[in-house]
Amino acid sequence: MEQGAGAPVDLKSMTQAELAAFLQELGEPKFRAKQVFSWLHKGVTSFDQMGNVPKALREKLVQRCRLTVPEIVRRQQSAQDGTIKYLWRLWDGNCVETVLMRYRHGNSLCVSCQVGCNMGCVFCASALGGKVRDLAPSEILDQVIFAQKDSGLPVSNLVMMGIGEPLDNVDNVLRFLELVNDPDGLNIGMRHISLSTCGLVNKIDKLAECALQLTLSVSLHAPDDETRSKLMPVNRSVGVERLLESCRRYFARTGRRISYEYAMIDGVNDSDWQADLLARRLKGQQAHVNLIPLNHVEESPLKPSPRVRQFQRRLEAQGVTATVRRKLGGDIDASCGQLRRKQMGEGVPEPGKEEVP
Ligand code: SAH
Repeated sequence: MEQGAGAPVDLKSMTQAELAAFLQELGEPKFRAKQVFSWLHKGVTSFDQMGNVPKALREKLVQRCRLTVPEIVRRQQSAQDGTIKYLWRLWDGNCVETVLMRYRHGNSLCVSCQVGCNMGCVFCASALGGKVRDLAPSEILDQVIFAQKDSGLPVSNLVMMGIGEPLDNVDNVLRFLELVNDPDGLNIGMRHISLSTCGLVNKIDKLAECALQLTLSVSLHAPDDETRSKLMPVNRSVGVERLLESCRRYFARTGRRISYEYAMIDGVNDSDWQADLLARRLKGQQAHVNLIPLNHVEESPLKPSPRVRQFQRRLEAQGVTATVRRKLGGDIDASCGQLRRKQMGEGVPEPGKEEVP
């Protein structure tokens, strides 16, 4: 979002308290903040839709503020399980993805937090091409607001596992969490939110200080430094041991069990010795390992492992809880980053020409 004096104010990135201060500056009573806040979070697409807000104030808002409204460029729905994938175009032409997954316990939304990603994980489609920019809090929030509005499905759970590294945009992500958690807005409880990181140790420590009740997922993908450094460049400066130490500190501070993501890659991280080393390293920790069948990325030679169940059994035999993630949206490239990549290759279609299969 544009910064600096005279730039339009990004109203939807403001907390209620900030909004109240801003409206007071405009000479408005404090109680207007709650009204404006809840209209914004309902997804109004113009200030005129704020029914109970006086016309004079609406006009001031039009002059001073920007109302972010992402545009749906593509919308794909899985015929198999109803998963919906959105490709949005943002105000500056950049695109990000969001995936709405339907489970028996409620609908879960996977949101992006950056345009592209700088972490360079070799198996990940989002990393190809690097990071373009961070998303503003409003732009992360918009994915929830407008996916809900478009689909008519209430979102009860959020996963920050879309494009980008949340802890590489930690200030905006923390603000987004505060916004989405607000009872006058979407009111999604912290216990219904998971945040996934490739393991930025200093930022994990920072997040621990906030003592949020969300679930922290750490993308581990290998228990040994040699393999992890090949897969995830972030491991080259801070290895597995220091990462796991910060995870233990995180648990000590928050009391929240950490979930470790482990994408199973054929011949790379799926051997018995790696299961045994992982079990040893996690021993005594309140941990949960989530084994993910690798999603094929066109540009990558890596293949999914056929040993997922064996690996799981081996971990469990050594006292480590491990589950295998169910794959949703397989027919629509629902794993993150892939739709944006395709779009970049093809060029973005004209506004209004979204696909609705
Ligand atoms: N940057 C964050 C969140 C985004 S990725 C992170 O690294 O955790 C969300 C999860 O999907 C991560 O665990 C990531 O490692 C995993 N992932 C990325 N590409 C994948 C692929 N091709 N197959 C399976 N999982 C993948």
